[in-house]
Amino acid sequence: MSKESKIPYKIYLKESEIPSKWYNLRADMKNKPAPFLNPGTGQPMSFDDLRPVFCDELIKQELDNDTAYIDIPQEIQDFYKMYRPAPLVRAYCLEKTLDTPAHIYYKFEGNNTSGSHKLNSAIAQAYYAKKQGLKGVTTETGAGQWGTALSMACAYLGLDCKVYMVKVSYEQKPFRREVMRTYGASVTPSPSMETNIGRKINEEFPGTTGSLGCAISEAVEAATSTEDYRYVLGSVLNQVLLHQSVIGLEAKAALDQYEVVPDIIIGCAGGGSNLGGLIAPFMGEKLRGEKDYRIIAVEPASCPSFTRGVFAYDFADTGMVCPLAKMYTLGSGFIPSPNHAGGLRYHGMSPILSQLYHDGYMEAVSVEQTSVFAAAEQFARTEGILPAPESSHAIRVAIDEALKCKETGEEKNILFGLTGTGYFDMVAYEKYHNHEMNDQVPTDEELQKSIANLPKVGN
Ligand SMILES: *Cc1c(COP(=O)(O)O)cnc(C)c1O
Repeated sequence: MSKESKIPYKIYLKESEIPSKWYNLRADMKNKPAPFLNPGTGQPMSFDDLRPVFCDELIKQELDNDTAYIDIPQEIQDFYKMYRPAPLVRAYCLEKTLDTPAHIYYKFEGNNTSGSHKLNSAIAQAYYAKKQGLKGVTTETGAGQWGTALSMACAYLGLDCKVYMVKVSYEQKPFRREVMRTYGASVTPSPSMETNIGRKINEEFPGTTGSLGCAISEAVEAATSTEDYRYVLGSVLNQVLLHQSVIGLEAKAALDQYEVVPDIIIGCAGGGSNLGGLIAPFMGEKLRGEKDYRIIAVEPASCPSFTRGVFAYDFADTGMVCPLAKMYTLGSGFIPSPNHAGGLRYHGMSPILSQLYHDGYMEAVSVEQTSVFAAAEQFARTEGILPAPESSHAIRVAIDEALKCKETGEEKNILFGLTGTGYFDMVAYEKYHNHEMNDQVPTDEELQKSIANLPKVGN
């Protein structure tokens, strides 16, 4: 019997094998991600420039392009133990249904109340804020996973948590809101009348239901105008990819135990944090020339930053108060079609992943949402887990790749990130079941319009 046939359905690491260091992929990149620029001066943002917005230790991590391994403080390791290690699952049932010779593995990050990988960074960011002696943090949330994760982390550490929640989600997802309040967070629908930018947006666009970019502007303003508060963000930033490296480090350690080497690694990409975390140690080997892997980012066809965006400096938020980041972007004014229900609706992308994609180290594909929900349903029916729509983008492409193996007879190892569960997304599933979901793809003209508004600075 080959060694592989003994692979269990779930590979769990021991508690003592949870990583004690995060891996900083930037250390192995020849072309480092471009620095943030001050939108006023066009100069790179220094440590001091960023201090009014972010916690000191997190700025150090954000700007550190050289240290390969960074110790995970013991308190964060202890918190990780409550819900980690996350299982690495061999999708035997899915393989059988697809009748594919491919071996499919997924790393499941949905085993915590927030229902996603976001808790891995939330606890780290809250920890450094607390350690700095701050009183609280502010943030934005769209669908609510990040806000929930941050609320949990803040409750654990005794830190105030103020969440600006995109108004349409605040109204349509009351359960997410109440989970956050259960963990002690204050939740404000955005745009609100509490901030200058919120009042301005409400005045200009009466009745607006808000957007992520707008909620970011409000959260940044609230943090910088309240004493002992800082702003935290759940994706896109270098520090978030650093924290999320626990996903990839655990996945690799589990596969190594059975000498399984993935041929293809697949992840959904919104701001890029789960994908950046999952691929980190594998990409490190690829960058150092030790091994080669096919790495695929999957994004929605209705918000195709990688596949149809441009690599340029852009604003991170609608209110244009944040530093400029060089990334694949559709323009900060881009808002996906209101019919889009599958998440991953951010206009930009992690500067780290953007640079790697630009340099040819990874691929990207976009998929339409009805095909994503078809994959989600097939996965739920075979593997049991009800996946988040975001995660289901990766499922779609994992299934497609496994079906290609069926044609060619290749026994490839496919690894994908199952980032979370979809219990709070049943309205989207309902639309799919009722055939009320359609595939909205922006026209070139629409994209050109928002891309035309990129800032002149840096470009
Ligand atoms: C937030 C989220 C994502 C997308 O964010 P990334 O930063 O691209 O990882 C994917 N899946 C789930 C379940 C999420 O909550």
